Amino acid sequence: MDDCIFCKIVKGEIPCQKIGENRDFLCFLDIKPINEGHSLIVPKRHFRDISDFPEELERGYFAFVQEMARKIVPAVKADGFNLGMNNGRAAGQLVMHQHTHLIPRFNGDSLAAWPHKEVTNEDLERTKNKILGKHK
Ligand code: 5GP
Ligand code: ZN
Repeated sequence: MDDCIFCKIVKGEIPCQKIGENRDFLCFLDIKPINEGHSLIVPKRHFRDISDFPEELERGYFAFVQEMARKIVPAVKADGFNLGMNNGRAAGQLVMHQHTHLIPRFNGDSLAAWPHKEVTNEDLERTKNKILGKHK
Protein backbone atom coordinates (compact mmCIF):
# COMPACT_ATOMS: atom_id res chain seq x y z
CA MET A 1 0.00 0.00 0.00
CA ASP A 2 1.96 2.97 -1.32
CA ASP A 3 -0.10 5.72 0.29
CA CYS A 4 -0.54 4.10 3.71
CA ILE A 5 1.01 6.04 6.61
CA PHE A 6 1.54 2.96 8.76
CA CYS A 7 3.13 1.00 5.89
CA LYS A 8 5.53 3.95 5.54
CA ILE A 9 6.26 3.85 9.27
CA VAL A 10 6.90 0.08 9.05
CA LYS A 11 9.32 0.67 6.15
CA GLY A 12 11.06 3.48 8.04
CA GLU A 13 10.03 6.09 5.45
CA ILE A 14 8.20 8.08 8.16
CA PRO A 15 9.82 8.31 11.60
CA CYS A 16 8.14 7.01 14.75
CA GLN A 17 8.92 6.61 18.43
CA LYS A 18 9.37 2.85 18.39
CA ILE A 19 8.54 0.93 21.55
CA GLY A 20 9.06 -2.61 20.29
CA GLU A 21 8.94 -4.91 17.29
CA ASN A 22 9.34 -8.46 16.17
CA ARG A 23 9.22 -10.13 12.74
CA ASP A 24 5.50 -9.52 12.24
CA PHE A 25 4.49 -6.56 14.42
CA LEU A 26 5.52 -3.04 15.40
CA CYS A 27 4.54 -0.87 18.36
CA PHE A 28 5.08 2.90 18.39
CA LEU A 29 3.76 5.95 20.24
CA ASP A 30 0.62 7.61 18.88
CA ILE A 31 1.50 11.06 17.57
CA LYS A 32 -1.55 12.58 19.34
CA PRO A 33 -1.77 10.63 22.58
CA ILE A 34 -4.93 10.38 24.65
CA ASN A 35 -2.71 9.76 27.68
CA GLU A 36 1.04 9.37 28.17
CA GLY A 37 2.21 6.09 26.64
CA HIS A 38 -0.70 5.81 24.17
CA SER A 39 0.69 3.39 21.61
CA LEU A 40 -0.35 1.77 18.37
CA ILE A 41 0.33 -1.88 17.66
CA VAL A 42 0.31 -2.79 13.98
CA PRO A 43 1.00 -5.81 11.82
CA LYS A 44 3.91 -5.09 9.48
CA ARG A 45 1.89 -6.41 6.54
CA HIS A 46 -1.01 -4.25 5.42
CA PHE A 47 -4.49 -5.37 6.45
CA ARG A 48 -7.43 -2.99 6.44
CA ASP A 49 -8.99 -4.09 9.70
CA ILE A 50 -9.65 -7.13 11.88
CA SER A 51 -12.02 -8.54 9.22
CA ASP A 52 -9.18 -9.35 6.83
CA PHE A 53 -6.54 -10.16 9.45
CA PRO A 54 -5.30 -13.74 8.89
CA GLU A 55 -5.84 -16.35 11.56
CA GLU A 56 -2.22 -17.49 11.53
CA LEU A 57 -1.12 -14.09 12.87
CA GLU A 58 -3.74 -13.77 15.60
CA ARG A 59 -1.98 -15.61 18.39
CA GLY A 60 1.27 -13.77 17.80
CA TYR A 61 -0.55 -10.45 17.63
CA PHE A 62 -2.22 -10.78 20.98
CA ALA A 63 0.94 -12.12 22.56
CA PHE A 64 2.76 -9.04 21.24
CA VAL A 65 0.01 -6.71 22.50
CA GLN A 66 0.36 -8.30 25.93
CA GLU A 67 4.15 -7.96 25.82
CA MET A 68 3.83 -4.26 24.96
CA ALA A 69 1.27 -3.69 27.73
CA ARG A 70 3.66 -5.23 30.25
CA LYS A 71 6.36 -2.86 29.06
CA ILE A 72 4.37 0.38 28.68
CA VAL A 73 1.89 0.33 31.58
CA PRO A 74 4.40 0.12 34.45
CA ALA A 75 6.82 2.49 32.68
CA VAL A 76 4.28 5.33 32.70
CA LYS A 77 2.98 4.20 36.12
CA ALA A 78 -0.55 3.71 34.77
CA ASP A 79 -3.29 2.22 36.94
CA GLY A 80 -4.90 0.35 34.03
CA PHE A 81 -5.18 0.45 30.26
CA ASN A 82 -7.67 0.22 27.43
CA LEU A 83 -7.17 -1.77 24.26
CA GLY A 84 -9.20 -0.36 21.39
CA MET A 85 -9.60 -1.13 17.73
CA ASN A 86 -11.61 1.02 15.36
CA ASN A 87 -12.82 -1.08 12.45
CA GLY A 88 -14.29 0.95 9.59
CA ARG A 89 -14.93 4.66 9.15
CA ALA A 90 -18.20 4.52 11.08
CA ALA A 91 -16.23 3.25 14.06
CA GLY A 92 -13.75 6.11 13.85
CA GLN A 93 -11.00 4.38 11.86
CA LEU A 94 -8.96 7.08 10.15
CA VAL A 95 -5.86 5.10 9.21
CA MET A 96 -6.95 2.13 7.14
CA HIS A 97 -4.12 -0.15 8.26
CA GLN A 98 -5.20 -2.39 11.09
CA HIS A 99 -4.02 -1.25 14.50
CA THR A 100 -4.79 -1.61 18.17
CA HIS A 101 -4.67 1.39 20.49
CA LEU A 102 -3.07 0.72 23.87
CA ILE A 103 -4.16 3.58 26.10
CA PRO A 104 -2.73 3.78 29.60
CA ARG A 105 -5.33 4.89 32.16
CA PHE A 106 -4.81 6.73 35.40
CA ASN A 107 -7.13 6.88 38.37
CA GLY A 108 -9.22 10.01 37.97
CA ASP A 109 -7.98 10.80 34.44
CA SER A 110 -11.62 11.65 33.69
CA LEU A 111 -11.68 10.35 30.12
CA ALA A 112 -15.33 10.06 29.17
CA ALA A 113 -16.76 6.56 29.05
CA TRP A 114 -18.89 5.55 26.07
CA PRO A 115 -22.54 6.44 26.65
CA HIS A 116 -24.91 3.50 27.05
CA LYS A 117 -28.49 3.20 25.80
CA GLU A 118 -31.44 1.97 27.83
CA VAL A 119 -33.11 -0.93 26.00
CA THR A 120 -35.69 -3.54 26.88
CA ASN A 121 -35.24 -7.30 27.00
CA GLU A 122 -37.30 -7.47 23.80
CA ASP A 123 -34.84 -5.13 22.09
CA LEU A 124 -31.96 -7.37 23.12
CA GLU A 125 -33.83 -10.46 21.94
CA ARG A 126 -34.58 -8.85 18.55
CA THR A 127 -30.92 -7.95 18.14
CA LYS A 128 -29.79 -11.44 19.09
CA ASN A 129 -32.18 -12.93 16.53
CA LYS A 130 -30.94 -10.52 13.88
CA ILE A 131 -27.38 -11.63 14.53
CA LEU A 132 -28.19 -15.32 14.75
CA GLY A 133 -30.42 -15.20 11.67
CA LYS A 134 -33.72 -16.00 13.43
CA HIS A 135 -36.71 -13.94 12.40
CA LYS A 136 -39.99 -13.83 14.23
P1 5GP B 1 -7.79 5.50 14.19
O1 5GP B 1 -8.80 6.58 14.39
O2 5GP B 1 -7.56 5.17 12.73
O3 5GP B 1 -8.07 4.28 15.02
O4 5GP B 1 -6.46 6.08 14.80
C1 5GP B 1 -5.34 6.42 14.08
C2 5GP B 1 -4.31 6.95 15.08
O5 5GP B 1 -3.09 7.11 14.40
C3 5GP B 1 -4.68 8.30 15.71
O6 5GP B 1 -4.74 8.16 17.12
C4 5GP B 1 -3.55 9.22 15.26
O7 5GP B 1 -3.15 10.13 16.26
C5 5GP B 1 -2.43 8.25 14.90
N1 5GP B 1 -1.57 8.71 13.82
C6 5GP B 1 -1.97 9.22 12.63
N2 5GP B 1 -0.89 9.50 11.87
C7 5GP B 1 0.20 9.16 12.61
C8 5GP B 1 1.60 9.24 12.36
O8 5GP B 1 2.08 9.68 11.30
N3 5GP B 1 2.43 8.80 13.35
C9 5GP B 1 1.96 8.30 14.53
N4 5GP B 1 2.85 7.90 15.43
N5 5GP B 1 0.62 8.22 14.80
C10 5GP B 1 -0.22 8.65 13.85
ZN1 ZN C 1 -0.58 -0.09 5.45
